[in-house]
Amino acid sequence: NQTSTWEKVDQYITERLVPYDAVLENVLLANQQAKLPAYDVTPNQGKLLNLLAQLQGAKRILEIGTLGGYSTIWLARALPSGGQLVTLELDPVHARVATANISLAQLSDRVEVRVGDALDQLAQMDDEGVEPFDLIFIDADKPNNPNYLKWALHFSHPGTVIIGDNVIREGEVINENSQDPRVQGVRQFYDLLAEEPKIDATAIQTVGSKGYDGFVLGIVK
Ligand code: SAM
Repeated sequence: NQTSTWEKVDQYITERLVPYDAVLENVLLANQQAKLPAYDVTPNQGKLLNLLAQLQGAKRILEIGTLGGYSTIWLARALPSGGQLVTLELDPVHARVATANISLAQLSDRVEVRVGDALDQLAQMDDEGVEPFDLIFIDADKPNNPNYLKWALHFSHPGTVIIGDNVIREGEVINENSQDPRVQGVRQFYDLLAEEPKIDATAIQTVGSKGYDGFVLGIVK
């Protein structure tokens, strides 16, 4: 069937273009052992995040939604020396697993895991006068996507790249009557992107081992 073809093609791509990496394999294993949900990006998507961060020359990265730190590690590996990544996670268990994984990946010097509700953390970061970021990856609770976009713009500068994951939701995104708050959050995210003059964005549908979904990519003007 269709899904198994998507899976096999993802495997084909990954075997060729995403070399075996013991650290990342151990990270996924640790997440599984800690019973974290397998909502991490796929290996080829992780590599895309890494390539986008390199293209951008990102020195400061913000991630909203850490889980076990799988995408965090892909992104942080693109940082030049002296670069920094801040990642926000609500669940203390996820944050603890992520912190251990980031240490295993020898990235603790450049990654800060902040535990708590992302909206509270973002407000606190504002109080602390945290500097703007060059790349922002939004991948937490989807109903809050519009709020995360507002904060992302707040912590941006002209040229900041903003990426939002899971914005297709097996095509449910076009169902305006959806009762799913995640779908409604994503729809509001699109509306805000459409009306916000400060950002130029597009969205791409994807298929793969984690199903039919997609991501938004935008650049702040
Ligand atoms: N970016 C991760 C990766 O690809 O490896 C996956 C992140 S997972 C899709 C979403 C994460 O957001 C979960 O770990 C969840 O606990 C966290 N989360 C949910 N609501 C949150 C909130 N209000 N504030 C911060 N994190 C939240």
